[in-house]
Amino acid sequence: MTSRKISLSSPIEEKIAWARYYYEAFGEALLEQERIGNLLESLKGDILASRREMALTGIVDICRHCDREEGGSCCGAGIENRYDGWLLLINLFLGVDLPKKRWQDTGCFLSGENGCLLMARHVICINYTCKKVTDRIAPCAIRELRENEGKEINTLFMLHESIKKALRQWTND
Ligand code: SF4
Ligand code: SF4
Repeated sequence: MTSRKISLSSPIEEKIAWARYYYEAFGEALLEQERIGNLLESLKGDILASRREMALTGIVDICRHCDREEGGSCCGAGIENRYDGWLLLINLFLGVDLPKKRWQDTGCFLSGENGCLLMARHVICINYTCKKVTDRIAPCAIRELRENEGKEINTLFMLHESIKKALRQWTND
């Protein structure tokens, strides 16, 4: 099997190309693995639950206003470097159309006109809340949100490891 080595320090464009290559070459075979199919379904549910909770707490509105009216989005250029190929590959499984170029010079490569393009995000993106948010949202609502996010992070970790293990049996990556 062809092997295309990348590392965490590879440029994001290379990581995206790696993810696309492995999605094309091994996507079907990976989906045939029951554990991976089940974890993908669970992850979709966990992500939707977290997003619903974020909207209910009011965080989505605060962030939208911050981004559009106050120019304060926290999705800055360079954060994309925290992402590895596996996490990008998981996003392809979730139907995400990964970007070909940066939308805004100062913004994260993985953001677009309407914010983050991803479904499965890095733990630093999932967990981040600034003072603007914590000052306005009740601590009990944040605790509830964290519980949902904990499930999302846990499922994502198990899926990440399962895909990595399966692919490593077929390639040298
Ligand atoms: S987390 Fe804070 S800085 Fe980031 S978009 Fe929301 S309000 Fe703005
Ligand atoms: S939430 Fe999305 S757009 Fe924002 S920094 Fe994370 S990956 Fe980039």
